[in-house]
Amino acid sequence: MQNYVYPTFDLTGKKAVVTGGSKGIGFTIAAGLAHAGAEVLITGRNESALIEATDEMKKQGYRVSWRASDVTTKKDVEELFDYIDDEFQQIDILINNAGMNIRKSLIEVEEEDWDKVVDTNLKGAFLVGQQAAKRMISQKSGRIINISSILGKIGNPLQTSYAASKGAIDQLTKVWAAELAEHGITVNALAPAYIITPMTEHFLQDEERLEKIINRTLMKRMGQADEMIGPALFFASDASTYVTGQILYVDGGWTAN
Ligand code: NDP
Repeated sequence: MQNYVYPTFDLTGKKAVVTGGSKGIGFTIAAGLAHAGAEVLITGRNESALIEATDEMKKQGYRVSWRASDVTTKKDVEELFDYIDDEFQQIDILINNAGMNIRKSLIEVEEEDWDKVVDTNLKGAFLVGQQAAKRMISQKSGRIINISSILGKIGNPLQTSYAASKGAIDQLTKVWAAELAEHGITVNALAPAYIITPMTEHFLQDEERLEKIINRTLMKRMGQADEMIGPALFFASDASTYVTGQILYVDGGWTAN
């Protein structure tokens, strides 16, 4: 028998930052990373939501802290990373998750809608990813996990700005993987379909829309937020040392169909 390295999802001693960690997918992945042993910093704009989320995780014994920061503002992102340098000293894992959607037809989308969505989902991921990459290059290690969407790959109506931002996230993932591999950094993306979170829970009240989603999904249901944890741990842990530049669809089979 060779001396195989048998990987685990153990993240003890790792430090992780999750943007948009106050609710939904970000909150759940943050809890998953903390459960695996990482020390986690969550960010978002709403302080009381961050305090509530942190308190909830602390009750589980997780090592979690928060920092209010808007990903669309360069100054905020720079201040966030100054804080990380002072308080955290290292960043092993970045979950580039903060995001939003405004569903409108091409004809209805206002310039302001486009700017909000693209600034949050794309410019925000760029600003945060750039700061994280600088630190990870010095450390000669790191994991960047961008949260994309199936809408980066498929064309659905009412998604002009959102789909454009997520398609661009897929490309950022590949370009960053190419630039950062030589520094010991992997960059991958998780691309969910419809996961029940504050962003999507209104679909549960819209029978016609819900039926369309379910019919389109091989597994005939929406996803639960905690079904993002395993895929995130895969990219964040030693289970994926030779995987970079990949987009993993967490979509109940939607894009296989
Ligand atoms: P939620 O709306 O539930 O949560 C979004 C999070 O992002 C919140 O913590 C919010 O906090 C934060 N956020 C939003 N804007 C900013 C900003 N400008 N700066 C910092 N933080 C911000 O969304 P989901 O959990 O559903 O989505 C998370 C990610 O997953 C997004 O990137 C989304 O596009 C993606 N996704 C989600 C899918 C789903 O079905 N839910 C499907 C495919 C992709 P606050 O408002 O306080 O700033």
